[in-house]
Amino acid sequence: MSLLRKAERCFANQHTHKLLTAFVAAPKDVALFQQDLQAADERSKEGRGKSPIDGQLIAIKDNICTTEEPTTCSSAILNGFHSPYPATIVEKLKAAGALIAGKTNLDEFGMGYIFSPSTAASIKIDRHHRSHSTNSIYEAVKNIYTQNGDALSAGGSSGGSAVAVATGQCDVALGTDTGGSVRLPAAYTGIVGFKPSYGLVSRWGVVAYANSLDTVGVLAKNSSIARSVFDAIKGYDPRDPTSLPTSTRLKIDKHVTNRRAKLQRSSSPSLRIGVPREYNTEELQPIVREAWLKTLQKLRELGHTIHVLSLPATKMALAAYYILAPAEASSNLAKYDGIRYGNKSADREGTDNVLFAATRGAGLGDEVKRRILLGSYSLSAAAIDNYFIKAQKVRRLVQGDFNNAFALRHPLLPHQGQSSQEGQVDIILTPTAQSLPPTISSLDKADPLQAYSADVLTVPASLAGLPSMSVPVSVSDGGSQDLKEPNTVGMQIVAQYGDDDLVFDMAWVIESL
Ligand code: GLN
Repeated sequence: MSLLRKAERCFANQHTHKLLTAFVAAPKDVALFQQDLQAADERSKEGRGKSPIDGQLIAIKDNICTTEEPTTCSSAILNGFHSPYPATIVEKLKAAGALIAGKTNLDEFGMGYIFSPSTAASIKIDRHHRSHSTNSIYEAVKNIYTQNGDALSAGGSSGGSAVAVATGQCDVALGTDTGGSVRLPAAYTGIVGFKPSYGLVSRWGVVAYANSLDTVGVLAKNSSIARSVFDAIKGYDPRDPTSLPTSTRLKIDKHVTNRRAKLQRSSSPSLRIGVPREYNTEELQPIVREAWLKTLQKLRELGHTIHVLSLPATKMALAAYYILAPAEASSNLAKYDGIRYGNKSADREGTDNVLFAATRGAGLGDEVKRRILLGSYSLSAAAIDNYFIKAQKVRRLVQGDFNNAFALRHPLLPHQGQSSQEGQVDIILTPTAQSLPPTISSLDKADPLQAYSADVLTVPASLAGLPSMSVPVSVSDGGSQDLKEPNTVGMQIVAQYGDDDLVFDMAWVIESL
């Protein structure tokens, strides 16, 4: 199909699915967009495309800066904010010939809710300010899937990007993943969601939530498209101090390639797939557990071997994440004071402190304020030892667990000698989420623990900075199916740091099962 026809189809889908509120801004300069599209179409017809993603329509999560459209992070404090510069990754996409399809909806600054409905009621949280990409100044994002006519959650916080891809409103979308925000919505909407190793993709121009965890990820219909977008956006960026320099990337590539060459030469080129028993939680819905088992079974039939292993710190990972992420957020969000950044409150009387308080009071949502308070508290002299420092220690344990499990040594850490599990697995396979997407209306009544633990399976890989992807596997039995209900479950692939290629290879195997 020509690029022009494909784009027309995306626009028609944007119109049809308007009420799902995936997009919050369309491309500003329509004439320029049309011109770029025409040019890409001609290049494609003449077989001189700039890259594999030339002419692709890519949606951008609204916490990633573009210059034509506003960048709001779905927050009132940035409503109407225009960045003076684009994110490096946006520049890279454009240089590869891709077209920006618009900006997508998210949970405010990427933060879903963590408080129970009863707590929420007692502190009078606005009913609409809840998670699953529903915690937004815009309308809540809605999944294409419904249950008995009730809209399902699209997952958060990159829910807008996920729905835009799942409903064909664009070809691919960028999201950000701090604790699971690309993988969870991918799982809930039946598409793939890839989170790269920390430091491979530039964060320059990406609004920071928790720097040590933030990554930019890709949401796509399949892993091959996601791979070409990842190839286009990765690379060293001197403007991002956490971006890995080229020499380190080369070292990592060599390390990973050596291992893979050894694997190819060995008598069994099959993969050793790790199954961590801590991920088989009580809360796992039977349909999710069945999909997990079935996928493992099929992989075994292909000749891969399955190894049950233990990642003992998993149980503490979620608690550590919800100390560390808010702590970093409290520092990052201090700049939204109405002077350096953010919409200034109309109440300008009094001292700066009054202005700051009025600006933040009016501009930030309840969940964001809670994170800032929680983070400021855990960093305070009285609490830092008991909370922040302990959480950092847990983070080390989580990293250590993964290092013990993977055959491949972490390329950036000193060799720590053999452990009992070392050498065991090449890749880890778990479900992405414990359940199918809940209905949005049920979020109000949800068991608080269930809501709190939506990210429980995705957070460990984030704490360890590892590459990870959610890939949909079918759960339909081929019988009469209500196409409106979810018919896939997300499987999460996790690999050693720098082994992003193996994640894509594994995703391809799972997609072909
Ligand atoms: N739901 C998690 C949070 O609110 C994950 C967010 C993310 O990955 N951006 O912190």
